[in-house]
Amino acid sequence: MTTSPQWQDLGGGSHLLPSSAARALVNIGLVVGTERALVIDTGCGPRHAAEILAAVRTVTALPLVVANTHAHWDHFFGNAVFKDHGATEIWAHAAARRDIAATGELQRAAVAGVEPEMAAGEGSGTELVIPTHLVDTEAVELDLGGLTATLFTLGPAHTDGDLLVGVPGVLFAGDILEEGAEPQFEDANPAGWIRVLRTLAVMGADYPVMVPGHGRPVTPAFAAHMADRMEAGQGDWARPGD
Ligand SMILES: [Zn+2]
Repeated sequence: MTTSPQWQDLGGGSHLLPSSAARALVNIGLVVGTERALVIDTGCGPRHAAEILAAVRTVTALPLVVANTHAHWDHFFGNAVFKDHGATEIWAHAAARRDIAATGELQRAAVAGVEPEMAAGEGSGTELVIPTHLVDTEAVELDLGGLTATLFTLGPAHTDGDLLVGVPGVLFAGDILEEGAEPQFEDANPAGWIRVLRTLAVMGADYPVMVPGHGRPVTPAFAAHMADRMEAGQGDWARPGD
């Protein structure tokens, strides 16, 4: 199958679907094996998730598995649509599952302008679907058929429940990495975040390409750049050299 133009082919079965400004500019990942495909983050609500699902189906007809990188609304509000279309596994960090359960209803207000059904909790695909499969300190190897995705955690950073998804050559980092916009600290552990960024900065042998939660794919040097800027308390998050 060919990749539709809206997807960026990252090689090795990995794909990136950037979202519009109306959809929080969130990056959606797709990793396609021979038996099933992994969707990384599900968008801002049923409208967005339906767009994502349609785009996924231009790439693969395989059964879908879902991972949520953390418990912020633009990364998990589309879970119900994927569950309704047969995804029986929704993976997340144990702390993210707890936060989704605790704060999910409160987060609905964030999408009042763009996903009114989700904001109101009325209509199909608006159920808050809590992750079903958990990752804690031990990494999980997810067999997609001919391709293994490694789900792992590195400790509190952007949130207490950040999940990373590594596949050969590519790391989906969620909002631990933020390109083209300021990092969001409201639920963050700044010291832990700097530590995690330093770890990412030396993972380039496995993951030369890193996909941020928002913005363009980066290299491990960008993680070091973010850590430097955080340590210096500076507010300029542009890519080095831009
Ligand atoms: Zn976030």
